Amino acid sequence: MPDMTNAPKETTRLTSATLGRQNSRRAVNTAVERGSTVLFENAEMLYNDDVKPTYGTDGLSTQNELCRLIAELEGAQEAFILPSGLAALTLPMFAFLAAGDEILIVNSCYRPVRRFLDTQMKRFDVIARYYEPRLSPEEVLALATPHTKMIYVESPGSLTFDIQDIPGIAKLAKARGILTLCDNTYGGGILFKPLAHDVDLSMQALTKYVGGHSDVLIGSVSVTDPKLSQVLHDTIKAWGFFTSADESYLASRGIRSLHLRIKQSGDSALKIAKWLEGRPEVLKVVHPALESHPGHDIFKRDFTAANGLFMALFKGDGDRQSQAFLNKLKLFGLGFSWGGYESLATNSEPQIRGRARLSDEPDPYLQGSAVRFYAGLEDPDDLIADIEQALSVFQ
Ligand SMILES: *Cc1c(COP(=O)(O)O)cnc(C)c1O
Repeated sequence: MPDMTNAPKETTRLTSATLGRQNSRRAVNTAVERGSTVLFENAEMLYNDDVKPTYGTDGLSTQNELCRLIAELEGAQEAFILPSGLAALTLPMFAFLAAGDEILIVNSCYRPVRRFLDTQMKRFDVIARYYEPRLSPEEVLALATPHTKMIYVESPGSLTFDIQDIPGIAKLAKARGILTLCDNTYGGGILFKPLAHDVDLSMQALTKYVGGHSDVLIGSVSVTDPKLSQVLHDTIKAWGFFTSADESYLASRGIRSLHLRIKQSGDSALKIAKWLEGRPEVLKVVHPALESHPGHDIFKRDFTAANGLFMALFKGDGDRQSQAFLNKLKLFGLGFSWGGYESLATNSEPQIRGRARLSDEPDPYLQGSAVRFYAGLEDPDDLIADIEQALSVFQ
């Protein structure tokens, strides 16, 4: 280990090939260790509870290395990995909710979570109540009942980038003994640290920025409280969730260049968003780092920068013209997900319509033609030129 008088900075802890390493003479990267059976040195070790791992599902060296890096990234005492981002959201709900309990969940959540709660958790008599992202911490906590065991937050929210006061909500929830679960995928663990702001469970779809190359599905949950750690450990083991060594290897490799990729992607998106704000074809650009965004002040307080996602509402007639626009794009791929090296675009209206209707006011995002952009690592000027030639559909 290098002799360092000052504690190494986060970027160094995430990229160093020597910090935290056990033995010195080996390849730079942790090997991909595949395995179901683990061999023991003698018979006495077979049923000795102190000997770990005893079987592949416990996780071998490749998974352990990823868990160590995620714990560094999230500022966690312990991190757990799961076979997808969605599994890393559903597992903590299985682990901490039981029949008769209630979960308050933000209406701008990642959409498949809604399906999980409204179909699967419902069968186990867990009630999901949706709340508007713009509610203040006091208003969110005012919705809690003695049955409320968990509050789910996501900021900026999926698709519409609504900003929540996560530190405020987590602090009040903690005082009432209610757990908070945060979907921290937006910032890749770099731009925001939920665990440093009283959040109990910080989840990430490592599929996105950590993986970074659109070739892996994997998720994580991180905690600082050892009691929560124990429950997560026992629940994952009981359900038999297991994450492959190959996926874990790719996620660990992604972490080494994460801070550079997220910065480039975020800078490009902001450049494109600012350019779009000046275009006559545009009604509104929805990007939390723009001063025009209603949650901008809280975003600036909590996040070190923005990621590569934003939405534009064009002066169009809804989905028909968004689709015509998408079909004219050449550099932006049409596809779901984000966080890879490649830029993507999708029309947002069908997903925005899929959210719960919580008020009679018109939805501010259901006007014009809504397109979500993800800026990858291409040159932003080329991405702007691509958008510019496709804007002709709105004339
Ligand atoms: C993609 C995504 C997930 C789910 O991740 P998968 O690995 O695709 O299951 C969860 N939350 C957010 C915010 C996401 O964007």
